[in-house]
Amino acid sequence: MADVRLRFAPSPTGFLHIGGLRTALYNYLYARQQGGKFILRIEDTDRTRFVPGAIESLIRSLKWAGIDYDEGVYIENNKIVEHGDFGPYVQSDRVKEGIYNQYIEELLESGKAYYCFCSKERLENLRKQQEADGKLSKYDGLCRGVSLEEARKRVAAGEEYVIRLRMPENEEIHFHDMVKGDITVNTGDVDDQVLIKADGFPTYHFAVIVDDHLMGVTHIARGDEWVSSVPKHVYLYQAFGWDIPEFIHLPTILNQNHKKLSKRHDDVSVEDFIKQGYLPEGLVNYLAMVGWSPNSNQEIFTMEELIEQFSFERVNSTGGVFDRKKLDWVNAHHIRNKSVEELRELCRPFLIEEGVIDEKFDNDRFLNVLLSTYQEGMHTLRDIIEPAKMALNDIPEYTEETVETIQNSDCTLLYDTLEAQLATLGEVTEEWATGVMKVIQKETGIKGKNLYMPIRGAMIGSVHGPDMKDIFLLLGKEKIQKRIEKARSMMRS
Ligand code: GLU
Repeated sequence: MADVRLRFAPSPTGFLHIGGLRTALYNYLYARQQGGKFILRIEDTDRTRFVPGAIESLIRSLKWAGIDYDEGVYIENNKIVEHGDFGPYVQSDRVKEGIYNQYIEELLESGKAYYCFCSKERLENLRKQQEADGKLSKYDGLCRGVSLEEARKRVAAGEEYVIRLRMPENEEIHFHDMVKGDITVNTGDVDDQVLIKADGFPTYHFAVIVDDHLMGVTHIARGDEWVSSVPKHVYLYQAFGWDIPEFIHLPTILNQNHKKLSKRHDDVSVEDFIKQGYLPEGLVNYLAMVGWSPNSNQEIFTMEELIEQFSFERVNSTGGVFDRKKLDWVNAHHIRNKSVEELRELCRPFLIEEGVIDEKFDNDRFLNVLLSTYQEGMHTLRDIIEPAKMALNDIPEYTEETVETIQNSDCTLLYDTLEAQLATLGEVTEEWATGVMKVIQKETGIKGKNLYMPIRGAMIGSVHGPDMKDIFLLLGKEKIQKRIEKARSMMRS
């Protein structure tokens, strides 16, 4: 079998949608598993929907996710460049090179495509009429009767036109989809698709066929909103006598209400998830499982494991619900797998952006202790922001429960003892932090909740939280002292 070639072919209409990231991921996983090639092609033939900066943002998001490719469009030195033997990889550049012309000519000559001169108004009226009659909205074929010779004269005279595919009357088109199974459609239910638009650009449907063929694409995995277009694509492949690739139409990602994820109601762009502090490992791992299930109970995967285990056969045929809690759970695993040093550098930009530290902050030791204290409980990188604020301020914010605890217990003896222990020290040491609670327990005879809650509450503003040893190390002598003072002032005298 020839080497597999897969592609991700986004349109640069905005940020990369997480559904798009999942499509890219599945293509990437399969290409890597099979030792084939993965291509990034930009489909920008719809000039009205082009968003400046979108190509750059798409590439950045793929890079962030750890999805690399072998051919296509890259950013180097802030410029969009291309690598590969099958270029150009941007469709508008392919238009400029006239790549689509010879193929449309071939179809016109063989009568499989025709010029259409119908005005927008006529098409609009037709559509309205069909709608009123409860009929399928479809071109009525008026211009099918215009001979090619006459059409060429009208074009030469400057008349506006599009070029349409001439679908045969009553033929069956069969194709197989690796997820949806065997599909048969009658050509009578398929529109005479516009192949070349009035602006001279090919439509998606035409460009995608020509490009996938010329780029040697063997497998097309994409969102299932495209499955209804496959009959016309298959007809085009047959018209050219080209090999038909494998089709894999991926189930839509749904929100909790089982509706398609929408920009208005849900976070949809990869950039949203980056900003919310998800790790690429977490998002990729989670997305892999929205729509695909492994052959085992494994839920936490590295990219290498996904490459090994992924298969199109195990892609679900129905929509997958995007479950934020599950994503958080998966992300938390990947956060726990990071070294403290790695995590520190990943969290740093979030802390800077929130104004918790500035760019000059160089107390890595503090951040290491902070992270080793809180890493276990983090679901996203943002989860370190509040603990960092709490630890860096002289005085933390106190929960109501903490205030009540401190007000309702006589903490004088506890705080006196802690302070006395502290006085013996230059700075908090590991050994001191490990043993001091035991010492206080022994000296005061207070234990359990009555010991821990007033002290933890005084130190971090919450009576629940990390180990006292970690808290003491994190705060250091001066802050511990200040916080004892503050807690004393909160006690009912
Ligand atoms: N440009 C199309 C999109 O943005 C790609 C569809 C396909 O992969 O064929 O969804």
